[in-house]
Amino acid sequence: MSSEKSRARSEKLFESSQKFIPGGVNSPVRAFKGVGGNPIFFKKGEGAWLIDEDDNRYVDYVGSWGPLILGHCHPAIIAALKAQLDNGLSFGAPTRQEGELAEKITQLIPSIESVRLVNSGTEATMSAIRLARGFTHRNKIVKFEGCYHGHVDSLLVKAGSGALTLGTPDSLGIPESTSTETYILPFNDIDSATKLFEQSGNDIACVIIEPVAGNMNCVPPVAGYLQGLRELCTQHGAVLIFDAVMTGFRTALGGAQSVYGITPDLTTLGKVIGGGLPVGAFGGKQEIMELLAPNGPVYQAGTLSGNPLAVTAGLATLLEISKPEFFDALTIKTETLLKGLQERADSAGIAFTTNQVGGMFGCFFSEEKLITSFSQVMDCDVARFKNYFHLMLNNGVYLAPSAFETGFVSAAHGNEELQLTLDAAEQAFSKL
Ligand code: PMP
Repeated sequence: MSSEKSRARSEKLFESSQKFIPGGVNSPVRAFKGVGGNPIFFKKGEGAWLIDEDDNRYVDYVGSWGPLILGHCHPAIIAALKAQLDNGLSFGAPTRQEGELAEKITQLIPSIESVRLVNSGTEATMSAIRLARGFTHRNKIVKFEGCYHGHVDSLLVKAGSGALTLGTPDSLGIPESTSTETYILPFNDIDSATKLFEQSGNDIACVIIEPVAGNMNCVPPVAGYLQGLRELCTQHGAVLIFDAVMTGFRTALGGAQSVYGITPDLTTLGKVIGGGLPVGAFGGKQEIMELLAPNGPVYQAGTLSGNPLAVTAGLATLLEISKPEFFDALTIKTETLLKGLQERADSAGIAFTTNQVGGMFGCFFSEEKLITSFSQVMDCDVARFKNYFHLMLNNGVYLAPSAFETGFVSAAHGNEELQLTLDAAEQAFSKL
């Protein structure tokens, strides 16, 4: 453990990629800007493991940023995809599988009465916002500091994830007229939401929130917070959107809305429902969804939406995770990991705390025992995280390359992988 790994091939590939791809990556947070060094190029995934171009092996806690809840190359997903491959890749016309996936989603998340499939989480949130505006005939939207909802113009204001990692929470290229339609509130602070609704409630089309914030590390809602937002939206006729692109089928089988007992009007999904292929979805109350084209006047479309391969992988994934005890096992495994990390950090005298909901977790280098706010996340020791990240990497553990990302445990993580991670962390903590 801890011998410096050779990543000569990755280095070379990164060098050549940069010539043809901006920054050498197709999504900014892959670039290691948040931790220093260069990204690793992977050639294979096997269960809980990633294998890089230099044949180094890593226990993977990124899981393609959430979708791979079953781990890499789960046999049921691969078999379903192989069978679909022989039938064709895309028809641009309805298929049986789309209806099956939609039905399964509505069964698992009862607040979703009707659902439209798209190709990414960004498309899902963008379309949900348009729909909420069309439904309410209002323009203003409310989002929360540190929550990321994809790179939609009106939502890329004080966003989390890569926008935080790169230290540029806003983006050039967004007209001021667009961002002024967005109100930003602090996460987990119901008083500020109440005040905003008192002042401007009649103008607000929707509130969009990650019910468990997963793009400023992992921050669950405090007791009563989501209920408070639900009541404000109901009182003022605004649409409550849960962005469950990350939390859907990660926190629990019914998503965060089942954990906290709140019924949003619309829900956006992605990641797990594509099983590793590109998918997003938005759905909710029939009354709202009916406004969508072709039934209604809110336009939304997609050449590859409901793509047969993506839908097949998603459906197979949902069938696997619907098996009894799936989420109990995932939750217990994640608890075991976090308990072990906490014990080792405590023994090493490292100020450290964790958050968890289901198979999602956050680790914070912080003196605080309970992290519930964006400002607490921002006060964490990022320099220490960077050291920890590289020590873990050299010990064969692949964490998200940013202090502001959630970690994911998959069903493929077993005792061997958890123990390796804890041994790696023990050594890392002793060096911080
Ligand atoms: N919403 C949330 C909560 C997300 O975490 C993400 C991506 N991490 C998105 C939306 C955007 O999804 P995509 O990257 O598929 O566009």
